[in-house]
Parts: sequence; C-alpha cells; structure tokens
Amino acid sequence: MAEIVKTEGVVLRRRDFRETSRLVVAYTRHSGKVHLLARGARRPRNKFGAALEPLTRTEFVFYWREGKDLFTLAEATPLAAGRRLRENAAALLHGLALAEIVDKLSAEGDADPALYELLVTSLAALEEGAPPAALLTQFLFKSAAQLGYKPELEACAECGRTDPPAGRALLGGEGTVVCLECVPPAAQIAPLAPATYKFVKNLFTLNPSNLTRVKVSSDLVDEALAFIRAHLRFHTGLEIKSLSLQAFP
Ligand SMILES: [Zn+2]
Repeated sequence: MAEIVKTEGVVLRRRDFRETSRLVVAYTRHSGKVHLLARGARRPRNKFGAALEPLTRTEFVFYWREGKDLFTLAEATPLAAGRRLRENAAALLHGLALAEIVDKLSAEGDADPALYELLVTSLAALEEGAPPAALLTQFLFKSAAQLGYKPELEACAECGRTDPPAGRALLGGEGTVVCLECVPPAAQIAPLAPATYKFVKNLFTLNPSNLTRVKVSSDLVDEALAFIRAHLRFHTGLEIKSLSLQAFP
C-alpha cells in the first residue's frame, strides 16, 4: 500500500528521465533525502512548473512505499523560488555547494529536521546577500557537528591540553587541531591565526543571516574553509565538486 506523504523540501538536483519525465533528488524536512519521479515534468505546461528547479524550497506530495527508493511525485508547490540566488553567480555556486554537501553526507530516507533547517536558513541568508565563502564555511562546520563529525577545537589531538601557550596549528590533511609544541616533525602544517580560531568558534553560535555583520578578511575565511574541508574529506571522503566550477566563471 502506498502512503501519501506531504512535506516541504529543497531540490538538491534533478535529471531527465525517459522521454518526458524528471528524477528529482530532494532533501525534505520529514523524510530526509528522497528520490522523486516527476512524470511528464518535461512536457510544456506541465503541472510542476518552477517547483523542481534546483535550490527551490517546495512543498512535495508523493506516494511513499515501504522498501522502495523512488517515489512518484503527485504535487509540487514552490514555497521560495530563490530567484535572487540565481541572479548572482557566486551565490548560486555556493548554494549548489550546500545542496551537494547535504546530498553527499545524508543517507536516503534519514530525516534530520535540524539539518533541514540549517540548509533552508543558509540558502535564505545567501539570497539576502550573506558573504558566500563565510556562509559555506559556517554551513560545513555546523553540518559536520549535526552529522557527528564536529572537529575537536579545544583539546590538542596529541597531548589533550586545552590551553596551548604557543598557539594552535592545523594538522594538514586531517583537519585536526594540535598545539604548536605537538606538531609531528614531518607534518605538513599551517599555524592557525588566533583570529581564525576565534572566527571558527563564533560560527557555531551565529545565525547565518548575521554573517554579513562579521568583519573578517577573506584569507581568514579561506583558512577556516580549508580546515573544515580537510576535516570532512578525511572523515567522510567529501569532495565538493560545485566549488571547482568557480575557476571557470
Ligand atoms: Zn599538544
């Protein structure tokens, strides 16, 4: 028996399917990541309209079946179109990166309303003009924490000390924090600027919409971003493809 599910979600990606249909991957508030089959979505004047555009927040109604991993979409109503997001190349690429991260780090059908909320508020902040790189950095730290991969920022990974007198360093490749005295001799390291450390700690409590008020240099954001990307690459194998598109505007 099919069960009718109604839940809002964000379109992560989509692709053409057969002659006239589309396959949509959405991250939903109540059902987590789902694959939806939108029959006839490529016909002119189809009933789905703009509701299936990537990054659109949409209310979905679909037929859920036990043991299946593709559900037929009955209705899709756009709730927030993200039009301004699509008008700004940097905001769009970073928005697509958020979608890619959720797609790659979430398991099929595994609902996580807090991660959904983080995705929605982050996309809204991007649309309102939040600085894209800082927003992406925050999203990675917060989603890592939400998914159980929060990096240890207080205690040194080697000796466990929480107040290193000479400052902290990032252990290259692993996204780990150690004190400067504990850096292994052969390690590839980057000392962590105290301002970067402070910025990273603030990211956890800051609302995405308030990122515009944070005055930080782009070098510092890049340092924090490189750290969390290395951390997630080491622990989950995450590579963010959407970001490499930036090199070819
Ligand atoms: Zn140490």
